Amino acid sequence: MNTLISKNISELIGNTDLLRINSLSKLTGCEILLKCEQQNPGGSIKDRAALQLVKDAVESGKLKPGMTIVEGTAGNTGIGLALVAKALGFNMLVVMPKGQTPEKERMIRLHGAELLLVAPCPFADPNHFYHTAKRLGEENDNYWWSDQFENISNSKAHYENTAPEIWQQTGGNIDAFVSVAGTGGTIGGTSSYLSKMSPSMLTWLVDPDGSGIYNFLKEGSYKSSGNSFTEGIGIMRSVENFRQAKIDKAITLPDQDLVTVSRALCSEDALPLGSSSALNVAGALYAAAKMGEGKTIVTFSCDLAERSYSKLYNAEFIAEKNISLNKETIEQLFERYKAEDESKVLSL
Ligand code: PMP
Repeated sequence: MNTLISKNISELIGNTDLLRINSLSKLTGCEILLKCEQQNPGGSIKDRAALQLVKDAVESGKLKPGMTIVEGTAGNTGIGLALVAKALGFNMLVVMPKGQTPEKERMIRLHGAELLLVAPCPFADPNHFYHTAKRLGEENDNYWWSDQFENISNSKAHYENTAPEIWQQTGGNIDAFVSVAGTGGTIGGTSSYLSKMSPSMLTWLVDPDGSGIYNFLKEGSYKSSGNSFTEGIGIMRSVENFRQAKIDKAITLPDQDLVTVSRALCSEDALPLGSSSALNVAGALYAAAKMGEGKTIVTFSCDLAERSYSKLYNAEFIAEKNISLNKETIEQLFERYKAEDESKVLSL
């Protein structure tokens, strides 16, 4: 029997490629590398977390055949869990706030999951998607709530798989790693592993407007200003997966910058990115501006660009947000980052 044949779609998760972003590597004199997580079968990095959450729950006996997995999500974890649930014989109930891109709602349904849409509201409201999913899990004996924020199977997926892949793909030659955070699973697991392998490597967190992580790292409280049209990233409270992270530098960047990056990479590198991924790459450009030439900097393409089509790649939507498609070129953005006051970078 040919052992190279995967037995079900969940086995296709992981082992993604690492791609050199040629335009930005040339511009910065650094190696700017992109871990292509959109290659996962569910189209995002959250497939990895979904698989680990389910595997660990099956192993510990919490999740048994015939049960329903329930999770609150901005979408990508829901797609990943729906795919893993279907492949491994579980039912899936996704609780999601209204107003996320319809692209994600469609994919959750396509994977056979039930989708419960709730009104978007502050975390303190008991009807928040997180509390709704938790409550459903507690009220039904046949449900298992995967709890992607507090369950550290999430960051474990990246500690055991994503980060070792990066280490191997770069031959251990990595000066910085740049990431956004949603649950913190990605940055938690990846930074823990990479900083253990190379204590001098720097982890940069990049936070969108409207998220409280930057302020938390600076002053100890979750405060935010402005807002962002990115989805699935930014946190306003302390969660266990984020607490795993070993962060050295933190910056906050506006949506305008990720829009500039997204258009430049489309035209220069044939590389459309999702919103959070474009913010990651803006963060990598910022790190290159501050660290200087000759560094190897790795960041993530978190999901498929299609998932951002109705917002990031919709000119009308961008105009409504008062963002310009022609504010500055990528070269000007890089020069601005180089000139920006050092005090904007939080050193931890
Ligand atoms: N980008 C996108 C598009 C996401 O959906 C998420 C997860 N919500 C992230 C980034 C952040 O990943 P993590 O939860 O591992 O911090």
